[in-house]
Amino acid sequence: LRDARTEHVAVARDVAGDSAAIDRAELGRDLTRAIENEELFLQYQPKVHLRRQEITSVEALVRWTHPTRGLVLPSDFIPIAEESRDIVALTLWTIRRSIQDQKILAEQGHDLRIFINIAGVLLADERFVRRACALVENSGAQLGFEITETSVIRDPESAIANLKVFAAIGIVIAIDDYGAGLSSLAYLKQLPARELKIDKLFVTQLTSSNRDPLIVRSTIDLAHALEMEVVAEGVETQAAMALLSVMGCDMIQGFLISRPINIDALIHFLDEGKHLAIAANARAPLNR
Ligand code: C2E
Ligand code: MG
Ligand code: MG
Ligand code: MG
Repeated sequence: LRDARTEHVAVARDVAGDSAAIDRAELGRDLTRAIENEELFLQYQPKVHLRRQEITSVEALVRWTHPTRGLVLPSDFIPIAEESRDIVALTLWTIRRSIQDQKILAEQGHDLRIFINIAGVLLADERFVRRACALVENSGAQLGFEITETSVIRDPESAIANLKVFAAIGIVIAIDDYGAGLSSLAYLKQLPARELKIDKLFVTQLTSSNRDPLIVRSTIDLAHALEMEVVAEGVETQAAMALLSVMGCDMIQGFLISRPINIDALIHFLDEGKHLAIAANARAPLNR
C-alpha cells in the first residue's frame, strides 16, 4: 500500500512539473507579444526619508495584465524574461516609461527620483548598457538602478565597470535585497552604490525576533561607514518604523507607507501628504 501511495505522489508530481513547464513556455511566448501590445504597466512604491520626513524617490515595479490570466506578478515572468532575453526589451520599456512618468510627476510639482530594478544578466550586456545610457542621457531624467550583489558575482569585472558608467551619467545605484543573496564585502567595497536596501527578510519580523534587530543595526552601521544611505524594505508596522528610526535607518519602504500604486494614485498620495503623518509617528516614542 505504501509503495502504491508513493507512486501515486510521484505521478502527481510529474504531471504538475509538466504543466508548470508548459505554463512557462506559454507565458514566455505571451510575454514577447505583451511588451509590444502595452500589456505591461508600472506601479510605484515610495521611499520615505525619516529625518527629512519626505518622499525623495519611488521604486518602479512592473506588472502584466495578461489577456486571459489577469494580473501576473514579476516573480512569475522576470525569470522567464531573463532566460529568453526579453528582459532587454522589457527593461528598456521600463526605463522609457519611468522617464515619461518622472516628467508627469515633475509637472505636478513632485520632483522624485525613480528607481528601476535591473536584472543581473543586463550588467554584463554591453549593448543594453549603451542603449540604456542613450535613453537616460538624452532625457535629463533623475533615475536610479537597483541591483543585487548576486548579479555582480556572475561577472564582477564588467558589472562593476558598467555600474560606474551608469553612476557617471547621474544614475544613483542602490544595492537591493541586501543580506538575502550572496553578499560579499569585497564587492560591497568596490560598488559605486549610494544606497543599500536591507532585504525585507530581516525587516518584516524586526520587532518579534531576537536576531533581526542585531543584523539590521550592524548593517546600518556598516553602510554608514561606507557612506551609503540605508533603506529598510518591507516595513509593515509602526513599531518596526520606530525601531528603525532609533537605529538611524535613513529611509523606509513598505506597506505601512504605501503598497505599490499606479501613477495617478501616487500623485494623489503625494498631493495629500499622507506620508507626513505616518513618518511623524516615527519620532513619537522618542519624544515621550
Ligand atoms: P524588489 O525589487 O525587492 O521589490 C520589493 C518587493 O516587495 C515588491 O514585490 C513589493 O511589492 C514587495 N513589498 C513592498 N513592500 C512590502 C511590505 O511591506 N511587505 C511585503 N511582504 N512585501 C512588500 P513585487 O512588486 O512583486 O516585485 C518582486 C520582485 O520582482 C522585485 O523585488 C524585483 O526584484 C522584481 N521586479 C519588479 N519589477 C521589475 C522590473 O521592472 N525589472 C526587473 N528586472 N525586476 C523587477
Ligand atoms: Mg527593488
Ligand atoms: Mg528589494
Ligand atoms: Mg526582493
